[in-house]
Amino acid sequence: MKIKFPLVVVGSQWGDEGKGKVVDLLAKQADDIVRFNGGNNAGHSVVLNGKKYKLSLLPSGILQKKQLYLSQAVVINPRVLLEEIAFFKKEKISFQLKIDPRCHIVMPYHQELDAATEKWKGKKATGSLHLGIGYCYEDRNNRFGIRFEDLINPKLLKEKLTQFWPIKKLQIEKVYGQTTQLKIEDIYQEYVHYGQQLKVYLADVSLLIQQKISTHKVLFEGAHGTFLDGNFGTYPYTTAVNTISGTVFTAVGIAPQKIYSLGIVKAYTTRVGNGPFPTELLNRAGERIREKGGEFGTVSKRPRRCGWLDLCLLRSASRWSGFDYLALTKLDVLSGLAKIKVCTHYQLGKQKIKEVPAMISDFNRCRPVYREFSGWKEDISNIRSFDKLPKTAQIYLNFIAQELKVPLKIISVSPEREANIFL
Ligand code: GDP
Ligand code: MG
Repeated sequence: MKIKFPLVVVGSQWGDEGKGKVVDLLAKQADDIVRFNGGNNAGHSVVLNGKKYKLSLLPSGILQKKQLYLSQAVVINPRVLLEEIAFFKKEKISFQLKIDPRCHIVMPYHQELDAATEKWKGKKATGSLHLGIGYCYEDRNNRFGIRFEDLINPKLLKEKLTQFWPIKKLQIEKVYGQTTQLKIEDIYQEYVHYGQQLKVYLADVSLLIQQKISTHKVLFEGAHGTFLDGNFGTYPYTTAVNTISGTVFTAVGIAPQKIYSLGIVKAYTTRVGNGPFPTELLNRAGERIREKGGEFGTVSKRPRRCGWLDLCLLRSASRWSGFDYLALTKLDVLSGLAKIKVCTHYQLGKQKIKEVPAMISDFNRCRPVYREFSGWKEDISNIRSFDKLPKTAQIYLNFIAQELKVPLKIISVSPEREANIFL
């Protein structure tokens, strides 16, 4: 498999495309792995020798023993990060981690505000996990945030908490009418302790990556997926961050330059939480994909909504992120289906359109138009070369790559690290 670096890996659908596994695979060839967005609301799984490793903050390259980084735009829940670190230490998996001082810290009041907002939104809830990620980004943008730099410095932490907490408490109690058990002294004690444990990881990630990018193989790992992008996704059913490839420059703090882009495509589509989903299957076929694909959230355990592959989503994703390569995951999940459908375009009123419309009100009216493919019965999880795949699977894959005009480089046929076909 010939893949060029620096490389950014992006989910092309609504997340959970199998980025964890693909990043682990690519990390083998890389020197440095940078997680560049999101918080512990993004769950990844990597399977090694039948054992499943769950990650929400540490980069998925951790099992390849490469240098790991959390860049500026990652928001950190320090308790969760310390738990993940402790887990890997216990497993005797050694790693090197560097955290940018500009990373923002998720505070307990962000979580309370998140839960209160979702309750207030009622039926129109975003489907957030109440982890406080969106509120942490809100404070960041409003210059009301606590950064990693503050967390590791007791004096700065106290100053910021003293400044911010009274208004947060008023917001929870007077705006949302909720009660809170939080006390500033408890928050301070807890967070000071986290900061002291984490300060060994402090480094200027922006500077280090800029220095290394021309001599090392740097891999940028994106969390979430294209249609969860806070601007280009299915707003407001999105995350608070940007997820498309160009985000890397500002999220890490490096100059614009050619960064190769790899889009991860699941062989069908899933989404967790609310929001439009034109190819959703609300029937037995959808349930079958969910069961066979284990489509339940890594962090949330929530059942994921399942549907057919949607080329309109993928064309827009590829346009925004400039995919140079594709990795297709979970092809094995489709084995045993008599017919497989692919959405080739949408019908929007009398118009035939090939990409996601710019307006959500139009997207809500889009009707998927399908092309039907014959399925295959064989278990394909032990196949390691393209020509050994059933002919019908080859036709399905060739069709996708041709329609997207992007070469398919990796096909994943089971959760295991070795279960791949390289092209
Ligand atoms: P991420 O958020 O994109 O990293 O994806 P998740 O880890 O949340 O979800 C993907 C799930 O699919 C994980 O449980 C993986 O172990 C699993 N997985 C990845 N690739 C394959 C594959 O090719 N086949 C099957 N059956 N499972 C896979
Ligand atoms: Mg996930």
